[in-house]
Amino acid sequence: MFEEDRIEEGRIGVFGGTFDPVHTGHLLLAETARVQAGLSRVVFMPAHIQPFKQEAETSSDDDRLRMLGLAISDNPHFGITSIETDKGGVSYTIDSLRALREEYGGARICFIIGTDMFLMIEKWKEAEALVSEFDFAVGVRPGYRHDEAVEKAGELREAHGTRIDLVENPPIDLSSTEIRQRIRDGETIRYRVPESVRRFLLVREKVGEKRFAHTKRVIDLATAMAARFGESVEKAGLAALLHDYGKDPGGGVENDLGHGGMAAEAAASEFGVADVDVLNAIRYHTTGRAGMSRLERIVFLADTVEPGRTYDSIARLRDTCLDDLDSGALTVLVELKKYLLMKGLEVSADTEAAIAELSRK
Ligand code: ATP
Repeated sequence: MFEEDRIEEGRIGVFGGTFDPVHTGHLLLAETARVQAGLSRVVFMPAHIQPFKQEAETSSDDDRLRMLGLAISDNPHFGITSIETDKGGVSYTIDSLRALREEYGGARICFIIGTDMFLMIEKWKEAEALVSEFDFAVGVRPGYRHDEAVEKAGELREAHGTRIDLVENPPIDLSSTEIRQRIRDGETIRYRVPESVRRFLLVREKVGEKRFAHTKRVIDLATAMAARFGESVEKAGLAALLHDYGKDPGGGVENDLGHGGMAAEAAASEFGVADVDVLNAIRYHTTGRAGMSRLERIVFLADTVEPGRTYDSIARLRDTCLDDLDSGALTVLVELKKYLLMKGLEVSADTEAAIAELSRK
């Protein structure tokens, strides 16, 4: 049977969780449930506060949503809903599923869940209503009694007529807790999470909170500029994520213009980035250079004019950059040179060459 033959149009999978971070166990369960339960698509629903983890310290909603976005970007059948993070407070599945059902025009919703959570379904808010109003797809999670989950599924079917699909996902013994611990211990998380999520987590771990907030603003601006100027959004996002990876998290030397080169080297050696344009966008983001590609100009400018920068001329400068990459780059480079001279610092030959070239255009 072809995968498409099973799909029941309008039956949507919703996969709730904390996703701190999303990992391979989640993704394989979601994809297997989609195919085996015939779901037209799967929507990941990160909780703001998970009722059973109210004391736990969790990454920000923004970080968890970003990681989900990175993890699912190449699957056309996957999506994300921010219904619980937008609402705030403790996230109760029954409330969210009812709201989503309305949002999706009365669609039939199938809630995707692993063994551990399914075994304690009676403890969930309005459990009876939950199993009466919605379908379930229950996946295997190693370390928990799946035979008990099968038994429970039988009971619920009998008592409430619940449609429950038992999903035969490949058992992956993995938890977000383990991944967070491995990062703290400096152990590899490669293949436990998608590579894009691994990069995000390692950059966040290395650069420190303040610089990571800056990095995220640069990602947002660089990807918006890429979309506007016809550049690859993926490359802009990658270069922006890694642009400060070489910088000392403690603050480092002021105006340490060499950190672009260090970050480019780390991008190649630690993350296997081979795209020359991405590497150059990282390498030259502090100085610019003659012959900057469109991607290089975007990352250079996004770094300088991201909304967290507060110097006087920033609004005018941002408008110029969003209008035209060349005049934006020239204006920013001239400002950079002025600033360096005022501080008695050396102006790089690359900066001089870039100014000379752009002035001729
Ligand atoms: P944490 O370790 O932080 O408690 P977690 O790995 O259990 O996190 P959650 O985001 O809490 O992940 O899980 C969301 C959903 O995914 C739950 O239904 C859970 O049962 C299921 N799930 C999590 N990990 C796996 C796995 N390895 N295999 C199958 N299902 C999983």
